[in-house]
Amino acid sequence: MTASNNSSSTKRIAIFGSTGSIGTQALDVIAAHPDKFCAEILTAQTNHELLISQALQFNPNCVVIGDESKYQKVKEALSGTETKVFAGEKALQEVASFDTYDMMLAAIVGYAGLKPTLAAIEKGKPIALANKETLVVAGEIIMQKALEKRVPILPVDSEHSAIFQCLVGEGRNRIEKIILTASGGPFFGKKPNFLVNVKRDHALQHPNWNMGAKITIDSATLMNKGLEMIEAKWLFNLKPEQIQVVIHPQSIIHSMVQFQDGSIKAQMGLPDMKLPIQYALAFPQRIDNNFPRYDFRKPGTLTFEEPDLRTFRNLALSIDALNKGGNVPCVLNAANEIAVFAFLKNRIGFLDITTVVERAMNKIDFIANPTLEELFESDAEARIFAATLLEL
Ligand code: NAD
Ligand code: MG
Repeated sequence: MTASNNSSSTKRIAIFGSTGSIGTQALDVIAAHPDKFCAEILTAQTNHELLISQALQFNPNCVVIGDESKYQKVKEALSGTETKVFAGEKALQEVASFDTYDMMLAAIVGYAGLKPTLAAIEKGKPIALANKETLVVAGEIIMQKALEKRVPILPVDSEHSAIFQCLVGEGRNRIEKIILTASGGPFFGKKPNFLVNVKRDHALQHPNWNMGAKITIDSATLMNKGLEMIEAKWLFNLKPEQIQVVIHPQSIIHSMVQFQDGSIKAQMGLPDMKLPIQYALAFPQRIDNNFPRYDFRKPGTLTFEEPDLRTFRNLALSIDALNKGGNVPCVLNAANEIAVFAFLKNRIGFLDITTVVERAMNKIDFIANPTLEELFESDAEARIFAATLLEL
């Protein structure tokens, strides 16, 4: 059992989405550094069994199970401990407003991560941000609020962590552009006549990363890279034309920054999300680990190509959303969440995901400077439109 949480030198981490791919890897990082970190809050949507075993191991102050029908089971399993148990969507926001933690790791997938993250920012809590959808939906509002509250938003997404690491020490030096690398996913080089027959299980096989289902599908459609372009715009205050995507199938260079003098900095390493997670949790420190290292002496070639926007049209739609701004990225995200859900249920084909997103973008009224409420409405409208289209 890992020691409890009270030493004043340990950073108390609230992991929202602790049972997911990012959440579990973050707990590995915490377990490896009990002198530096402890788990203060853990939350999960449905996997109560994993949440219970995490709570028994890490002894957090509280846990939240999103699915209220699982509350009794979690409560009973933790009755002999001091861990408080809450349930339901509202509880996520309430717990995010607690005083008792030092940093939130925002690792919920999708739009569901937005409100708890906003509540944490309101409370002045630093955010280690894995949940890119939060910035896609409401980047302007989130960054404005973070600025107002002097809250750092530390990227966990590997590309954004790479850019962030390249920017350390650069002060006011001007960024000419950033180069976001993309693995290309399992269907790199394929054409629509192949993609039309792609099934769920094939799309879930990512060549370099082992991630949650939604982001794995987004990586296969290149929507993930589109969402990351929008995420980068907000994190690093960039214009759309300063954000370039390049396919780099080996996933060794995690992204690059080109400065005003043309010099390019890259951050490199073997693909392992524990590194950006650890970097965000420990920033500005770097801490030791025993992760495998990249070896330049081993034969291997690093290659780079332009993305195929005509085949992977989700990336083209994302660039369109990035350029238009307003509520368009929010609509893109909402329609994509519904379409990916339907694809994962084998209800629609791979290329239908793009059709649904495009039709939602054409359908929902444009709002140039949406309020948070208007974004919630656009999200709901786009979801209903997409679900109706798909007869879900
Ligand atoms: P995942 O599906 O493995 O885990 C998602 C977590 O969120 C789980 O703990 C789940 O219980 C919780 N959750 C799901 N729906 C919820 C809801 N409606 N309300 C509350 N909680 C809910 O996802 P993941 O791969 O860990 O990704 C998490 C986030 O991190 C995503 O936004 C993703 O884009 C981003 N990200 C992930 C990776 C990766 O390697 N997995 C890399 C970069 C960025
Ligand atoms: Mg990424």
